Amino acid sequence: HAMIEAVGLSKRYGPKTAVHDLSFTVRPGAVTGFLGPNGAGKSTTMRMLVGLDTPSSGHATLNGRRYADHAAPLHEVGAMLEARAVHTGRSAFNHLLALAATHGIPRRRVEEVVDLVGLRQVARKRAGGFSLGMGQRLGIASALLGDPATLILDEPVNGLDPEGILWIRNLLKSLAAEGRTVLVSSHLMSEMALTAEHLIVIGRGRLIADTSVEEFTRQA
Ligand code: ADP
Ligand code: ADP
Repeated sequence: HAMIEAVGLSKRYGPKTAVHDLSFTVRPGAVTGFLGPNGAGKSTTMRMLVGLDTPSSGHATLNGRRYADHAAPLHEVGAMLEARAVHTGRSAFNHLLALAATHGIPRRRVEEVVDLVGLRQVARKRAGGFSLGMGQRLGIASALLGDPATLILDEPVNGLDPEGILWIRNLLKSLAAEGRTVLVSSHLMSEMALTAEHLIVIGRGRLIADTSVEEFTRQA
């Protein structure tokens, strides 16, 4: 089954320890929230999970495979790792088409994903001029292109309007309900309580809790 596994994952930047000895498993079927304050090490951990950053020690596996120093393929994992504008003169559609082409993904999947994330109305507009919310949708579209069994999204609701937040919540829940493995980070407990069933909580790079939202809320 599709699964994310972190095994003693650590990352040091010079004298600074960003992530310390993190071990956890993310299972398919329910959204797992990755909760922690800003600077806790969520982004660093997610980069290591998808093979975009090399751990100082420990390792991560996606569906039993390691991607230690190369990014996992798009059909294996779809990731949106930082909310940043796409700096391109291309239209959103052409941006996705180019990404699809380099990964051997057919055009009809681009069409499908554009509709899925609600970008149809602006698909022909220049992606570089998108609002934060539309940029987030484009990021999510890119993550979904390969029809991945595993999704890893870093703070996807940041900067979204209420409608966009509701939309992402429902999308993540339905993708998880289809049997996908969904890990989504946030610094807001209130947001995670409404989105996730399971929680991995970190602080200062260390594991604080790995439990159901229900259980975590009861303890807190
Ligand atoms: P979060 O995503 O939870 O906000 P980050 O993973 O971005 O946390 O950061 C964790 C810690 O690691 C922070 O103290 C941050 O300053 C530090 N850090 C992250 N990336 C780097 C880097 N490339 N070089 C040095 N320090 C970094
Ligand atoms: P497969 O492509 O392996 O048959 P599913 O049977 O789960 O995947 O697909 C069922 C429906 O879900 C299809 O209409 C497809 O467009 C949609 N779908 C497939 N993958 C994704 C995805 N990553 N994100 C959102 N919807 C998807």
